[in-house]
Amino acid sequence: MLTTYVAVTLITLFLMCVYNIGILSENLYSEQTTKLYAKANIISQSISGAWDSNDEKVMYLRLEDVTDRLLAGTNIRGVVTDNSYSVLFDNNSEAGMTGKVFMRDVLKRALDGEQSDSKFETDNGSTLTVAVPVEVDGEIIGGVYLAENMSAIADTVSTIRASLIVFSALLLFIIILISIGTSYIITRPIAEFTEVARAISRGDFSRRANVKGTREMAQMGQALNFMCDELNALDEKRKNFVSDVSHELKTPMAGIKLLCDSLVQAENPDMETIREFLGDMSEEIDRLTRIINRLLTLSRLDSGADMNMSRVDISALCAGVVESLSKLAKEKDIELTYEIPETADNYINADYDKIYECVYNIVVNAINYTPDGGNVNTRVKCSDSLCVIEVEDNGPGIPDAEKLKVFDRFYRLDDSRARDTGGTGLGLAITKEAVLLHQGTIEVTDSPSGGSIFTITLPITESGKE
Ligand code: ADP
Repeated sequence: MLTTYVAVTLITLFLMCVYNIGILSENLYSEQTTKLYAKANIISQSISGAWDSNDEKVMYLRLEDVTDRLLAGTNIRGVVTDNSYSVLFDNNSEAGMTGKVFMRDVLKRALDGEQSDSKFETDNGSTLTVAVPVEVDGEIIGGVYLAENMSAIADTVSTIRASLIVFSALLLFIIILISIGTSYIITRPIAEFTEVARAISRGDFSRRANVKGTREMAQMGQALNFMCDELNALDEKRKNFVSDVSHELKTPMAGIKLLCDSLVQAENPDMETIREFLGDMSEEIDRLTRIINRLLTLSRLDSGADMNMSRVDISALCAGVVESLSKLAKEKDIELTYEIPETADNYINADYDKIYECVYNIVVNAINYTPDGGNVNTRVKCSDSLCVIEVEDNGPGIPDAEKLKVFDRFYRLDDSRARDTGGTGLGLAITKEAVLLHQGTIEVTDSPSGGSIFTITLPITESGKE
């Protein structure tokens, strides 16, 4: 970035210097040329005016007078010739040219009737020459030649060039300083963000980016840090989940191992003992199977795929769940009731099996965790846009601090009681995932009877209404 800035600045400054110096020197030379022409023309007209007198002396005095006046105090050399290049006047009297032939290209062109100028280099620097014809009655009777050393202009140009170079160097220095500052401000956070991203890819989610700097950089830093927080939380959850799964699987495995060892070590066990041990083993295997099946269900829900959507009559679905659990409720002497509006349109667009499992999980929990003789009520209320399913029991209820946690994987309020009911701690986690996949919500609140109310809210989409 710095190299680009400096290169662009250098090129700009170089072009600016070359262009400006070129324009300046051209202007100075053209101005000087115009001035020389003006002087040469005045001399030429003076000669023309004096020519009529036919008096060489008058003409010469006139020439001397005009030339002295015009060229006094300058370093201009003035030569006047007749039309055969013979010098009539030369202000450089030391050269002793008067009466001699004075041949120059510009003078030749002047005697041909055309004023002209030229520039040439000498040891003393460049010299500018102009020549104009002297005309009397339309006839060219001679020419005026002026030559001026241009070293003053060259000096001016080189002084300005030197100043421009110093100015450019100073400007370049300032631009380099600003570029270093700017690139530091921009690249430092980028380097830091890159470092954080590398740390994330190495699995280190503890690194955070500095959120200072320009507004955009601070926003980027905040977004990156937010992503780190989320990844960290996700990683924590993943680690906890793996250790929970191992723990959950270890318990029934240890039970099976113990039963096997006991059976192996028993001397001549009778058939009844063997059957009892095998029965216990079978229960543990059932428990293992239940956990594995629920884990598979969770993993399918996590992947989000496999949604088999159709138009589902939610009141019929809830009635089906209540019906299928009536035997279990009867065994526990629990009054299982349901309030389902029969006439209302209770259709939603949903995956039937998944929603069935959700409702089943919360009704079966309500029956399992409500003491014998209690009651469980299932209600369905649908509006234009929402379908609400409520399952209320008069069981022990769930303390406020646990209300969110019960939806976590493997979370049980009372571990031993939950295990006794055959609980895996995954039922509500599965329910929550399935409800979320339907863009719905699930929550638990306190029932006035002291138990809990689990509420599932599902949106009614346009396709559900059709
Ligand atoms: P489990 O398979 O153990 O029932 P869940 O995920 O279905 O697992 O439930 C998590 C925990 O929430 C249960 O272990 C239980 O302690 C508590 N719970 C669930 N439903 C109720 C309820 N209706 N009343 C009281 N506690 C409940």
